[in-house]
Amino acid sequence: MENIKERIEKWVDGREADIIADISRLVAIRSVAGEPGEGMPFGEGPAAALREAMEICRERGLIVRNHEGYVLTADINGCEAALDILAHLDVVGEGEGWETEPYRAVVKDGCLYGRGADDDKGPAVAAVYAMECARELCRESGIAMRRNARLILGTDEESGSRDIAYYYRRNKPAPNTFSPDASFPVYNVEKGLYRPSFSFRLDPAGEAALPRVLSLSGGERLNVVPAEAAAVVAGLDLGAVEALCRPAAERLGVGLRLKETDAGTEIAVEGRSAHASTPELGLNALTALLELLAALPLAECGSARALRRLGALFPHGDWRGSAAGIAMEDGISGPLTLAFTLLEMDSGRIAGRFDARVPVCANDENCKRVVEARLVEAGFEVSGEMSPPHHTPADSPFVKTLLRAYEAYTGNRGECLSMGGGTYVHGIEGGVAFGAAMPGFQANPHGANERLRVKDLLAACKIFAQVIIDLCA
Ligand SMILES: [Zn+2]
Repeated sequence: MENIKERIEKWVDGREADIIADISRLVAIRSVAGEPGEGMPFGEGPAAALREAMEICRERGLIVRNHEGYVLTADINGCEAALDILAHLDVVGEGEGWETEPYRAVVKDGCLYGRGADDDKGPAVAAVYAMECARELCRESGIAMRRNARLILGTDEESGSRDIAYYYRRNKPAPNTFSPDASFPVYNVEKGLYRPSFSFRLDPAGEAALPRVLSLSGGERLNVVPAEAAAVVAGLDLGAVEALCRPAAERLGVGLRLKETDAGTEIAVEGRSAHASTPELGLNALTALLELLAALPLAECGSARALRRLGALFPHGDWRGSAAGIAMEDGISGPLTLAFTLLEMDSGRIAGRFDARVPVCANDENCKRVVEARLVEAGFEVSGEMSPPHHTPADSPFVKTLLRAYEAYTGNRGECLSMGGGTYVHGIEGGVAFGAAMPGFQANPHGANERLRVKDLLAACKIFAQVIIDLCA
């Protein structure tokens, strides 16, 4: 096809207002997971977004089908699929701190703001228009599209991806799959997960001497570096704790609040949260608390020993798992990362979990068994399996096609990258994450003021149209 790039650019640029209007229709729906109902397995919000997206796809001339409320598929034609595009219509809750209304899309400073603008309603609509663009330009040029591109819009990505699991139990994947649910250029590696549970039973008879830790609580979610952690220590007054803990807190850069309670002195540590896949960006309040406790002259007992050993296995700042014996990395996926994210202790038990993102070179032998052995040696019981990483070779023809399109429309060099998180394509052979934000752009997905740069949105639409033509025409 002649002048294909110019024609795609002209077609997409001419639809800017329509694209933004259609994204706004979806942003207006608070598609947060809710109570299941008839035909809406993930609640009213996701179901409403699915109905609206169905309407949008129909308006763009795509062939739509509702798969029992789990996913919506939109096809260009009835041919065999060469490409599946996976995006999602559900969102996480709005949270605090918005400068605009989260469910009213607003264009400001060249960006489209609103919950779901980036994750993942904007990219979904970009894909819809890319499909229409590819079909129209082929038709105008008299070029046959002998293969289909199918857009699969899910409604449960944020709460476990049961939507996609449902779909793939009944349908086979296309030979090529990408998901615009990350950023450009191409993410061909998604690390595996190792998030075991471990616990230590406390013997009440042995827990009598003072000073001693009575209770401890750190972290709220498995995949978030804890910003808060607190413990109550009996047998040491506030002044003594202050003198021992304050210097350590200052050295670690964490906040420290002490309070006298009926049970003992409460030690509260304040750090900074981060996603568990990027623990280096956070300041782990839980590991800091364990280090502060290690500075106290606790009496020798089961709880003191167990907490000291946990502190030694997961020291503050060791986000690569060195002390646990599993620091490793490879050229494909980069380093293993580890975030100690949950720990609870009461009078009967200490129980915790960590969240490790493991590279392609990790296996049961060099990772899971090593951690298990060290925790068992420290007196803990351990359970939990490792889930494998996802990897599509960077030199596959499909990946080359994607990178070529990215380079042509942005002028930037394309490359393959690795991520610690997982997307819809995890486990789908040959699948990669592709777009839709540009590298380095702060889109704030899941946070306040989520946004997508309008210029990037249009670029993504053009890139997708080119890829569809390359694979289907
Ligand atoms: Zn997403």
